[in-house]
Amino acid sequence: MTRIFSGIKPTGHMTLGNYLGAVRQWVAAEQEPDDALFCVVDLHALTVEHEPARVRRLSRQAATLLMAAGLEPQRCTLFVQSHVDEHTRLAYLLECTATDGELRRMIQYKEKAAKAQASGEGVRLSLLTYPVLMAADILAYGAGEVPVGEDQRQHVELTRDLAVRFNQRYGHTFTIPKATLPSVAARVMDLQDPTSKMGKSHANGSGIVYLLDEPGVVRKKVMRAVTDSGDGAVVYDREARPGVANLLDILAACTGGDPAALADGYDGYGALKRDVADAVVELLRPLQERHAELAADPAQVDKALREGAGRARELARPVVDRAYEAIGLLAP
Ligand code: ATP
Ligand code: MG
Repeated sequence: MTRIFSGIKPTGHMTLGNYLGAVRQWVAAEQEPDDALFCVVDLHALTVEHEPARVRRLSRQAATLLMAAGLEPQRCTLFVQSHVDEHTRLAYLLECTATDGELRRMIQYKEKAAKAQASGEGVRLSLLTYPVLMAADILAYGAGEVPVGEDQRQHVELTRDLAVRFNQRYGHTFTIPKATLPSVAARVMDLQDPTSKMGKSHANGSGIVYLLDEPGVVRKKVMRAVTDSGDGAVVYDREARPGVANLLDILAACTGGDPAALADGYDGYGALKRDVADAVVELLRPLQERHAELAADPAQVDKALREGAGRARELARPVVDRAYEAIGLLAP
C-alpha cells in the first residue's frame, strides 16, 4: 500500500483552490490511518510575517475544516506539524543535503521573498529553507504519493532530488515520493486576477472563494469574476481567455465534467457564471454544515489531533533515527 502525505499551512482561511487542488484528493484517498497522513503545517506559517494568535486559531480551524471536508480520524492520521519533533530533526539533515543554489531557484521563494522585501519586513531565513522542512515532512513517513496542487509540484520534485541524493550518499533510507495532481483544477486562479493563483494568504479577498463564505458571498464573487474581453464567446483557452477557462475548470471540478466540453453549452458569460455559482454553493453546503457541528465541539477536534500526533510520531521516529545513523551521527 502506498503511503500518502500532504499538508496545509494555517496562513489564512481555506479556499476553493485548496479544496479542489488538494483536500478533495485527500478525502478520496483516505484508507488506513497508517497509510494516509494529513498535516496542518503550522511551522511553515511562520516563514512570513504572522500574528501568533491568528496562526493558533487558523490551525484549529484548518483541522476542523479538514474533518468537515470528510477526513475521518479512523481512516487517516490528522495532526499538527509542530506536535511531532521528527520533522525539524530531519529537516536539519536535509539542509546538509540541499544546496543554497537549488533553494534560491524555487519559484515560490522568489515570489514570496519579493513580497516580504516590498513590505519592508525583510525575508525570513526560514522562507528559503521551507522546502527542506517540507521535504522532511514527506520523507519522515516514507510517503510514496503527495497529493498537491500544481504550485507545489516543484517542491515535491526537490524532495525527490534530496531523497535520491541522500540515498546515494548514505545508503537506502528514504522512499522516493511523487506528486499527484488532480486532472482538473490543479491550479485554481484568482477570480479578480485570473493570471495569478487563488491563494489564502493574499490580501485582497474579493477574487478568492473561502470555504466558509456564505452562499450570497460566493454568488457575488463568482458573478463579479473578471472575464475576458473580446467577443464574449465561451471557449476553453487558458492562455487567451484565462478568466473564462478558470470558471470552466471550477465548474468541471464541481460537476465532474470536462471543461472544454462544458464550454459548448454556453453562449454567454452570464449563464456560465450562474451555473458556476450554483455548483460551488452546492459543493460547499455539506462541508459548511459539518463545520458548524464540529466547531461547536472543539474537544473532538483536539482529541483527533492529539491521537494523530501520537501515531505520526511512532511512524516517523524509526525513519528519522535511521537517517541520523546513516549520515554518520553517533547513536545516543
Ligand atoms: P499561501 O498563500 O499561504 O501559500 P495557499 O492557498 O497556497 O496559501 P498552501 O497551504 O500553500 O495554500 O497549500 C495547500 C495545498 O493547496 C497545496 O497542495 C497547494 O498546492 C494547494 N493549492 C493552493 N492554492 C491552490 C490553487 N489556487 N489551486 C489548486 N491548488 C491549490
Ligand atoms: Mg501556497
